[in-house]
Amino acid sequence: MIQSETTECIDPAETVITKMREQGISSLPRNYELVYRFLNSSNPKLILAYAALGQRPSQIQLDAIGMRFLPHHYPETAAEQSLDSVYNEMLGMIRMFKKDQSRLRKYSNVLGETSARMSREDARDPDGMHDMRRILSSATGDTLEKSEAVIYQMVEQAKELTRLKSELEDYKRLCAIDPVTKLANRRAFDKRLSAIYDRKSETAHQALIIADIDHFKAFNDTYGHQVGDRVLSATAAVMKKTLGSEIFISRTGGEEFAIILDGTGPEEALKTAERVREAIASTPLKDHNDGRDCGRVTISLGLCMATDASGPQDIYNKADAALYDAKKNGRNRVKTYSPKAKRLLSLLKG
Ligand code: GH3
Ligand code: MG
Ligand code: MG
Repeated sequence: MIQSETTECIDPAETVITKMREQGISSLPRNYELVYRFLNSSNPKLILAYAALGQRPSQIQLDAIGMRFLPHHYPETAAEQSLDSVYNEMLGMIRMFKKDQSRLRKYSNVLGETSARMSREDARDPDGMHDMRRILSSATGDTLEKSEAVIYQMVEQAKELTRLKSELEDYKRLCAIDPVTKLANRRAFDKRLSAIYDRKSETAHQALIIADIDHFKAFNDTYGHQVGDRVLSATAAVMKKTLGSEIFISRTGGEEFAIILDGTGPEEALKTAERVREAIASTPLKDHNDGRDCGRVTISLGLCMATDASGPQDIYNKADAALYDAKKNGRNRVKTYSPKAKRLLSLLKG
């Protein structure tokens, strides 16, 4: 005997939306795509990473995973979407204001007409008066009720705007951070470097240091790229610990870092660069995963004072030239860009 079976057809979109609601995830298209991929993925890394977020993932956590697993999931795009949402919320508010205004206009017409009728009608006609009182009271009650609904909606939309504002601030921070080392990234560095030559800034006591890990390719070849990545973040941590939180440190590319000193003369800047070099060279590296001893890395540093350069690109080139000098002269050392030495050198060569 064939038994009939009823198969319940579950809409995949509904499954995604239910999951998003359960986890309090806001209904942005990129979140939808991420949750959809998670629910339908065979990629164990994505499944594990998503599951590790727990019951109430934050937008930042979701985007971090999105950026890792979905090729088009960038915070810049996300920030643009947030801006769109803010814009749409504003449009919604304007539309509501307009609707409320037209309702008030209608109410005012009812008042006008009723008052004109009152003066025309025989005031002694009790039925007519009763009728007009009914019209007025119903129009007033209706208008009040609708205005209260508008106020409620406005409060809800204001809450949503506050949430979007804090989301945008998170993106702003995220766009300036290097994900491997959590230092400022190249974009933030470029901005900070330009600020040295702002009219308001005191160029005389500012300096740029560029640091580059020595023989890092060989390190990667020996210990693997993943260990290499952890060394990048360990190097960043040592720099932060040595310099403190007030000094601007960034990862400007591969295994290159840049430090901007403010309120420091040439001697103090050189001493600071030496301190960083020494701190890195004396830090033993141990792989946390297997306890393996990975030796140490060293860095070479190039220093240029802001007064020895004409602008952001020039100071960068000159600090880079000093770094090149440090590499050429044996690495694990600091070299300062010196206009005098350069001139002497070119005279000798000439
Ligand atoms: P030098 O002392 O002249 O700077 O030698 P180097 O090997 O450090 O320099 P080179 O420019 O030849 O190679 C840089 C290496 O840095 C290549 C690459 O393996 C490594 N690298 C760059 N970016 C990253 C990264 O994000 N993670 C890891 N693990 N390695 C990186
Ligand atoms: Mg290097
Ligand atoms: Mg390099």
